[in-house]
Amino acid sequence: MRLFLLSSVLPVFLLSACASVAAPDPVPAAEPQVQTPVVQAPVTQSAPAVQRPTFEAYRDGLARRAIARGHDAALVARTIGAAEYYERTLKRDANQPEFTKPVWDYIRGAASADRIDRGRAEMAEHADTLAAVERAYGVPAHILAGIWGLETSYGRIMGDFDLFTTLTTLGYDGRRRDWAEEQVFAALELIRSGDVRPEQLRGAWAGAMGMTQFIPTTFRDYAVDFDGDGNKDLWGNEGDALASAANYLTRSGWTPGVPVAGEVVLPDGFDYSVSEVETMSVADWARLGVRPANGADWTPGDARLQARLLAPAGYRGPKLLAFDNFDVLMRYNPASAYVMGIASLGEALRGGQLVTAGWPEGDMGLNKPQKEALQQALTAQGYDTKGVDGLIGPATRAAIRAWQRDNGLPADGYVEQTLYRRIVG
Ligand code: CA
Repeated sequence: MRLFLLSSVLPVFLLSACASVAAPDPVPAAEPQVQTPVVQAPVTQSAPAVQRPTFEAYRDGLARRAIARGHDAALVARTIGAAEYYERTLKRDANQPEFTKPVWDYIRGAASADRIDRGRAEMAEHADTLAAVERAYGVPAHILAGIWGLETSYGRIMGDFDLFTTLTTLGYDGRRRDWAEEQVFAALELIRSGDVRPEQLRGAWAGAMGMTQFIPTTFRDYAVDFDGDGNKDLWGNEGDALASAANYLTRSGWTPGVPVAGEVVLPDGFDYSVSEVETMSVADWARLGVRPANGADWTPGDARLQARLLAPAGYRGPKLLAFDNFDVLMRYNPASAYVMGIASLGEALRGGQLVTAGWPEGDMGLNKPQKEALQQALTAQGYDTKGVDGLIGPATRAAIRAWQRDNGLPADGYVEQTLYRRIVG
């Protein structure tokens, strides 16, 4: 998920979502700040050295706290107690592809020909299961298959990190310690409840497990045993995994019958300052000249259907209406590029196409120093970006839109190199 030059992640939401998202990147907007473990801090005569505990000391302290919470000492010993410091976890933490790919590359990768072909085969093979889950939860099979395909390539790539090792490493690293420790304790609860067996607990680097990549707290709160065999097997049982994803979406507010997103075309001279920030009915969007680009599965005159307008690559790129279920999918992974990836794959799996307009592929996005320079320049010119962090979030895009409007440009909040040079000067 994410090349934040384009997507519409909401940092405030991110912070609150850390403990609940099911996706593998629980804190996607945060920049990696990997610390080197200080095993032996410098010792001086005059002032006490600040010495970071060793990984082993941190791990053993975490184990003691787990036992204090009532977890079985033998279980703690073979889970947390067996955790090792794992450099690979932190390397992955520092290199999340969604941060660096242009949105069109991300979406194209999400709905690749291989993923579509495999997905159609999987949907045919598991048609009965998907239909049963759709009946039970109201989430369409093609969306569930899209999540399944994007998260793990239909269960082929579920991650082979030992859950306790990777989460304890993240806890020791400290950048997301509270989150990681909550996940460790939730994982122990999963074992204690009997829902899973300890040996099942393997996943991706940030603790996301199984075919639909649930982190332990999400697993604890939303996973279901769809086939009723007593085990919530998100690794080996398609029904359990897909029903768990559907349950998570339904309990996050999924509305049956409402699409995720639909491509639209806009009239010349359209005021892009309403994009991303304004939610209004489809009927109101139609009054502004917004109309479906191709075979819409929504009614343009619908006064009840609510939507936001997204122009993820600016006014020269595709435009979409994002309906309420788009925001529900943001609960799965809070990045609009991710949700567009799910929707693109899902549409392709049912023979459609989410986006037909071309992307401005010649555009070069900004690197982090440029994003910081952009924020500094906007702020200096009176357009408040609410700080300089090198992340293009809603506040920065609002500042960009204001700058664009004041300079007679389409206020789409999108910046590539040409506009960057104009703003920074
Ligand atoms: Ca089961």
